[in-house]
Amino acid sequence: MFRRINSSFLHNRGHLYSLIICLIGLGLFVIYSNGSFLHFSSSAWGWITAMAGAAVILTVFTFQLPPQGNGLSLDSSVYLACIFIFGLPFTLMVLLLSSLVLLFLEWGSTVWWKHINNFAVYCIMVASASSAFTALGGVQGPLLSSRLEAYVSAMAVYFILNTLLIGFYYYVVFHKNLYNTLKGMLTDTILAYACTLVLSLVLTILLYHNHMVGLGLFLCLSILISYSFRRLFSMYRDIEERSNRDPRTGLFNHSYFEHALEEEMGSSKISGTALSLAMIDIDDFKKYNDHFGHLKGDGLIVFLAELLKRETKNTNIIVSRYGGEEFTLLMPGYDAAAARNFIESLRKTLNHSRFEGSEIFPQGCLAFSAGIAAYQPDVHFKSELVDHADQALYYAKKQGKNLVHTYGSQSLQERDVDFSQDVRDIEQQLNLFMYKDLETFKHSKRVFRYAMDISELLNLDTLSKRQFTLGALIHDIGKLEIPWGILNKKDKLSLEEWEMVKWHVIWGKEMALTNEKFRDLAPYIELHHERYDGKGYPYGFKGEEIPRLCRMLTIIDSFDAMTTERPYQPTKSFKEAIVELRACAGSQFDPELTELFIRYIERKEVCGSETAI
Ligand code: GH3
Ligand code: MG
Ligand code: MG
Repeated sequence: MFRRINSSFLHNRGHLYSLIICLIGLGLFVIYSNGSFLHFSSSAWGWITAMAGAAVILTVFTFQLPPQGNGLSLDSSVYLACIFIFGLPFTLMVLLLSSLVLLFLEWGSTVWWKHINNFAVYCIMVASASSAFTALGGVQGPLLSSRLEAYVSAMAVYFILNTLLIGFYYYVVFHKNLYNTLKGMLTDTILAYACTLVLSLVLTILLYHNHMVGLGLFLCLSILISYSFRRLFSMYRDIEERSNRDPRTGLFNHSYFEHALEEEMGSSKISGTALSLAMIDIDDFKKYNDHFGHLKGDGLIVFLAELLKRETKNTNIIVSRYGGEEFTLLMPGYDAAAARNFIESLRKTLNHSRFEGSEIFPQGCLAFSAGIAAYQPDVHFKSELVDHADQALYYAKKQGKNLVHTYGSQSLQERDVDFSQDVRDIEQQLNLFMYKDLETFKHSKRVFRYAMDISELLNLDTLSKRQFTLGALIHDIGKLEIPWGILNKKDKLSLEEWEMVKWHVIWGKEMALTNEKFRDLAPYIELHHERYDGKGYPYGFKGEEIPRLCRMLTIIDSFDAMTTERPYQPTKSFKEAIVELRACAGSQFDPELTELFIRYIERKEVCGSETAI
């Protein structure tokens, strides 16, 4: 039977339940043993000792049952055989002795009250089974085939009480559904239990006719069966493990992921705890494959898998290989913000990891893009959550890769841009930066997103909003004219090179003027490096001489430059960047607009929405 109740004694209802069981069990023991130990002969004590020893051995050699590996002990067959041959007082004495030995053997590993509780549960079962046995005409001694119903009812009472007593415990302590708990216990154990009960009849025959030899034979057989069950169980575990794993990386595979997602969504729905799903895709992996071959590519996949294993080691995150170079992280207990923080730190760790040939990537380092979707109660199917994460991943890729994006975090305006064709036209131009200067490409997109938010905050009319946001998107377009070597130079620029860089505002303006549609964006390109104190370029305009929204663009542009993280380059945190903005308010930046922008950033930070990367 199930011997141990796996719970601490902290639950009050459990306390009470255990106390009641103990009182009933111990009461039955006192009533039915009735001081019988005073009257047992020395040969009876010999048998009591032998039977108690057998019960202890069978408790140690348990059957391990799939799927969880619960241990089922055959000791019940000893107690039942004792009832059938020697009667209740004898059986209670065997029970007491074996319980004392187990208390001694398990001292320190199992708390004492569990032993008393188990002893009481056994007393209740043994006393009830014995009563059923005698009530139906059972007679102590050899197995009588004419009294089969007495044996069967004793065994049935024993089994039913065991199931009910343990099932109620789970119901009381863990508030589990009683019906489901009992059903689960029955389906898990019924076969093995039937085996125990039948074995009690076998033991009765062996004991009665062959005495100690019979008992010895029975123990040998039981130990062998227990051993075989253990072997089978470990094979079961092995096969289960293999069918859930991706052989190349050792991570969980796609089918296990689907199963785990279903389970986790189900428990989040019931308990209301947070759950997030992150989908990760290695950036430009094809390029790596093409350059170094598939074998090396496989090595890179394994490398990332190892990193994921390491970084999630002490968490409850379930990492799976979704397919190819795509991975999923199922994150129970993580809301969108927490999941985002975790994946961001993973991304940075990967960026800073060395791997052979990583310099051929456009980002100059290993990188992935990730989409995060947080579970909401209105998400009913697992495919919806996967789809959300996938959409967020797609968005991250579109924003220039090496990014983490949370589903639903982009502002409404961004999705509803009514000048989307203009945006697409400018993006076409910006795509040239994909090969020339990826950072400028990503920077332009981020500045555009800030501008969208700010235009909402400033309550701009449609025309101003269009100019301001498109101006933000296109403001660095002139950098296309700067030679690749200067644009991507890691060292300090020479004076001449710096002068050339400064020209990008003029070149950009010229480029905008060539297209009728974008002529009105020219001031944003031309004036975004002017300073409030007049020390900027190209004209040295001062204060109100610079249009208000251009002054705003200067703040956004600088803030993003300060907070942009680039591999191997120090970055300012949002807090540090805010300090810097304040320090430069009145000199480099318009003080009033600076405060407005800071308020916006602080609110954005508090809300935990998309942060600039
Ligand atoms: P993106 O940044 O947009 O993700 O670009 P990408 O190059 O990574 O493109 P994509 O994700 O579409 O392509 C993934 C490639 O990964 C396609 C396939 O050849 C390769 N691939 C998929 N599975 C394996 C694998 O097990 N081993 C190797 N070596 N390559 C794989
Ligand atoms: Mg892919
Ligand atoms: Mg990829």
